[in-house]
Amino acid sequence: MPNSRRAVENARFPVWAAGFVALACVAILTLSGWREWETRQVEVRNAEVDMANLAQSLTQHAEDTFELADTILAGMVDRMEVGGTSPAAVEKIQRFLQSRKYNRERIRGIFVYDETGRWLGTTEDVDFARLNNSDRDYFQRHRTSADRGTLIGRPVKSRSGGQWIITASRRFNHPDGSFAGVVLTSVDVAYFTQFYRRFDIGPNGSVSLLNADGTMLARTPDENGAYIGRDMSGSPLFRTMDQRPDAGAYYFKSPLDGLERLSFYRKSGRYPILVLASKAQSDVLAPWRHQAITRFGIVTGLTLSMALIGFFLVRYLAKGQRMAATLVAKEADFRLIAEQCSDVVMRVGLDERILYASPSCARILGWDPARLLGTSALDGVNPADRPRVEQVVAALKAGEAEEARIIYRVHHRDKKELWVETALRVTRSSDTHEIDGVVAISRDMTEQKDLQDKLAALATSDGLTGIANRRHFDERLAEEWARAKRDGSPVSLLLVDVDHFKKFNDQYGHQAGDACLRALARILAAQVRRPADLAARYGGEEFALLLPNTDAEGCELLGENVRRAVRDLGMLHALNLPSKIVTVSLGGATNLPSQGALDCPSLVAAADRALYAAKDGGRDRLVMSGQVVAWPGARSA
Ligand code: GH3
Ligand code: MG
Ligand code: MG
Repeated sequence: MPNSRRAVENARFPVWAAGFVALACVAILTLSGWREWETRQVEVRNAEVDMANLAQSLTQHAEDTFELADTILAGMVDRMEVGGTSPAAVEKIQRFLQSRKYNRERIRGIFVYDETGRWLGTTEDVDFARLNNSDRDYFQRHRTSADRGTLIGRPVKSRSGGQWIITASRRFNHPDGSFAGVVLTSVDVAYFTQFYRRFDIGPNGSVSLLNADGTMLARTPDENGAYIGRDMSGSPLFRTMDQRPDAGAYYFKSPLDGLERLSFYRKSGRYPILVLASKAQSDVLAPWRHQAITRFGIVTGLTLSMALIGFFLVRYLAKGQRMAATLVAKEADFRLIAEQCSDVVMRVGLDERILYASPSCARILGWDPARLLGTSALDGVNPADRPRVEQVVAALKAGEAEEARIIYRVHHRDKKELWVETALRVTRSSDTHEIDGVVAISRDMTEQKDLQDKLAALATSDGLTGIANRRHFDERLAEEWARAKRDGSPVSLLLVDVDHFKKFNDQYGHQAGDACLRALARILAAQVRRPADLAARYGGEEFALLLPNTDAEGCELLGENVRRAVRDLGMLHALNLPSKIVTVSLGGATNLPSQGALDCPSLVAAADRALYAAKDGGRDRLVMSGQVVAWPGARSA
């Protein structure tokens, strides 16, 4: 996969993670909400089933009650039609009714009225001589209708007991079929309401018994009979009753108390009555709501915690990504710099193995950087410089310094050798901050080094003759003097001066003089064979030979050799009498610095005095310092 594509995908990762966390949170909340809704529906359905069962039972109960009333009515109608309404028959009926004080809990009373509404008999203990019920709705309906069926009337206040009653009545006829009167049974509304109270329908539930035309017969709770006889035919249930099945669930907002209700109604198949059992939705759902709020609260809390943790994780991730991107960019920058750099950039581990080498390796060292990876960084170092390099590397590894600069020689693959200047800097592990290697930046210094060497040579050599100059001679003399003092070895010095050189110049010209000086320098250089010996131009036409570790004898021998070699040159010098060739005079001095007799300048002074003595003695000769008789006005060096 290309790096850029991977980087883009990595950059999107926190967005995906955030999306996933958000999705998970939404999914958990949705599932939880859905589950709570399901639980709510189950509660509602259970309540519906409860109400259906209750409506079924109460309808059965009402039917049983009215069936009993119906049976009594049928018997009474038969008795009246057979017995007639003669005074004797009426008295008989009266006696019969008074004798039937049976269980009056269900059927409260039995009443007989003649065709004018006058009371003929009753089970009640009242004086009914002047009572007339021709004004009652049921009476007028029986009088005008030939229907012999049972009529369940509106609740009315009992004229005998004063309580609310429901009436069930039938008409009875004269033998010719004309209206003869009404028999009536009454059921106390309280009978139903007390029965209905036995059922748990919640604090806001209600049970209603209604007439088929929508008249309220009984209701629990009844609030002192406030609902009894109320016309409910205008309510939505009754308005749409034609399209409804005989039983069904019915949800409505009660016009009586304004509460949302969940109810079940059932119409009686046998009597024109209907039972409506209802619970307030708030009662049905109260336990569920309480639990659902608790459960949903916990789930929401957990989800919020998850979202919060997710938020911080995603933020941490995004931060990590940004840091990684910055690191990648930095590394890219570093590589760009390393790869475009004309110097060799290397990263070296603690085991001195090369971990990275920049492409400039190929150009500068002649090695493909890939081939250098894993090899020792010290392999190419010149063995003479290696201890020095190792020492510096060890100091860096030991934490003695953070960086160092060192110049040494390395092998080029094809060419002989290079001088490189390397800047070393320790690297540290990003975790432990421990030193884990070094970065080495090496620059080819060969040209500079050559130039430097040339400059150094120029600084130490004499321009005319090419041998060491006076400054270099002075330095070497001081060094050798110190060393000799340490070692207790002798040091000798020869001063060489051309005889009558002024005249040579005058005679042959200055250029010839220069050539003469160069020739003499060559002779002196050829005479010094030991590495520590030094031939130098001391000044003008005066030369010096520094001979460390050489005693007076050796010095004298060498001085004599020089003198002879100059003579052997046979360079013409007409004015240098008597030889008429170029000759030199030499002054030699030797001392054991450890003996402390002379100091460094006094060795030069001694040699100078010897030289002066040689001049004085006739030139073309060597005088050793020991042969010199002290001379008060000796020349100073
Ligand atoms: P003596 O035998 O006593 O040494 O006599 P001298 O003439 O050599 O002594 P002196 O010190 O008086 O003269 C040295 C001369 O060397 C003076 C100067 O012209 C000459 N000389 C010094 N340096 C150079 C040089 O670089 N080139 C040339 N051609 N001549 C030089
Ligand atoms: Mg001189
Ligand atoms: Mg001279």
